[in-house]
Amino acid sequence: MANINTNICIIGAGPGGATAALVLGKAGVPCVLVDKADFPRDKICGDALSGKVVEVLRKVDPAIAAQLALEPTNVGSWGVNFVAPNGRVLRVPFKMSADKAKDAAPGFIVKRIDFDHFLLQEALKYPSVQYLPNIKLEQFTKTSNGYTAANKAGDYTIDAKLLLVADGAQSVFARHHGGIQMEQQHYCAGIRAYYKGVEGMDAENFIELHFLKELLPGYFWIFPLPNGEANVGLGIRSDYISKRKLNLKQLLPQVIEAHPELKSRFANAELIDEVRGFGLPLGSKKRTISGDNYMLIGDAASLIDPFTGEGIGNAMMSGMLAAKHAMACRDYHATTMAEYDAAVYKRLWSELSLSRKMQQLVQVPWLFNFVVNKAQRSKTLQETISCMFEDMDMRERLKKPSFYVNLLLNR
Ligand SMILES: Cc1cc2nc3c(=O)[nH]c(=O)nc-3n(C[C@H](O)[C@H](O)[C@H](O)COP(=O)(O)OP(=O)(O)OC[C@H]3O[C@@H](n4cnc5c(N)ncnc54)[C@H](O)[C@@H]3O)c2cc1C
Repeated sequence: MANINTNICIIGAGPGGATAALVLGKAGVPCVLVDKADFPRDKICGDALSGKVVEVLRKVDPAIAAQLALEPTNVGSWGVNFVAPNGRVLRVPFKMSADKAKDAAPGFIVKRIDFDHFLLQEALKYPSVQYLPNIKLEQFTKTSNGYTAANKAGDYTIDAKLLLVADGAQSVFARHHGGIQMEQQHYCAGIRAYYKGVEGMDAENFIELHFLKELLPGYFWIFPLPNGEANVGLGIRSDYISKRKLNLKQLLPQVIEAHPELKSRFANAELIDEVRGFGLPLGSKKRTISGDNYMLIGDAASLIDPFTGEGIGNAMMSGMLAAKHAMACRDYHATTMAEYDAAVYKRLWSELSLSRKMQQLVQVPWLFNFVVNKAQRSKTLQETISCMFEDMDMRERLKKPSFYVNLLLNR
């Protein structure tokens, strides 16, 4: 029997929870960080770290961002290749910089077993962060001044005034106490496979998103990793999986086999790990993500980008905002906690709602083909789309029918 008393308890030491711990630790604020696993631990993911990860790290501690770039476990990535349903490729650099040194890379690809461990170790450098691995918190009881969280047997309890809930897509707390339900049209399922020896990888480590007709609005991906390895997978919205009765693990080899270009690139590739799947709670809808004595972070708050599937950056962003709010707020009442919701959506909602629109647009294969065909012939359009990935105001143009009408008129 063990009981711990703390002001702040963070549940989950993935990117969201570890970032919250890092921010609190840096400020010398005591907190308890609990995880059901011990690290290093695997997490099913595409392993792609977007510019937002680097942005959050720079805000929290620029030295950590610089260190990440030096880690031998990752590769720097310079952009994304969108492959349209007709097979044509739209090449979109993340930024139009000529500096190709790894420490200037706008994004990285790194196995989560390495990245999450790296981030957690940074948080654990601070003595005010008390780390408790191998404890799965499954029962939560509201008390007069917070929550009692307990393991299944009830022989390990934590009394906390504030819970920062960062226990991922299957969060028990979010479902039973945070009122977050799984809705198929706002949820995605994905599978990940590690391969060695996939041919035709991009020289600048561009990630590849293949919008194959049979997967729309989902996609098949190939992301480069160090040592000739690649993270390969596919993700599709759950309502489409149900409607089409898809089995993603069977679909992966079928997709590779059915597309001659992919088939030849995988001809000498070797699958080096079991194919595994996991859920992606999408941020395509605004939700209440806090309440009396708690804030939800990352996947527990359903903050994954509905177009790209990116969730690590948003988990870290929300972890940082939750920790800052925990330090600044005068009490933990629901009305005060709601300021956290406002801060999260102020930063993320414009891009999440735009991505929801993009997710709907890519369901129209001819429109996707048309934009990519056109961009292949026009350097200006290529650059415009590239800027859109950095500049939200530019990106807003993609939502407007006038963008596509202008493309049609300027044939
Ligand atoms: C197939 C797939 C591909 C993806 N590809 C990408 C990608 O390329 N790029 C990207 O940015 N995002 C990607 N994502 C999304 C990304 O993985 C998540 O958004 C991200 O991991 C969210 O971080 P988190 O900290 O909220 O949760 P997690 O990373 O899931 O961490 C939650 C932590 O909580 C712990 N935990 C869970 N339950 C309990 C409990 N009851 N008690 C204590 N601890 C608990 C877990 O052990 C874990 O360490 C992908 C997801 C999937 C499924």
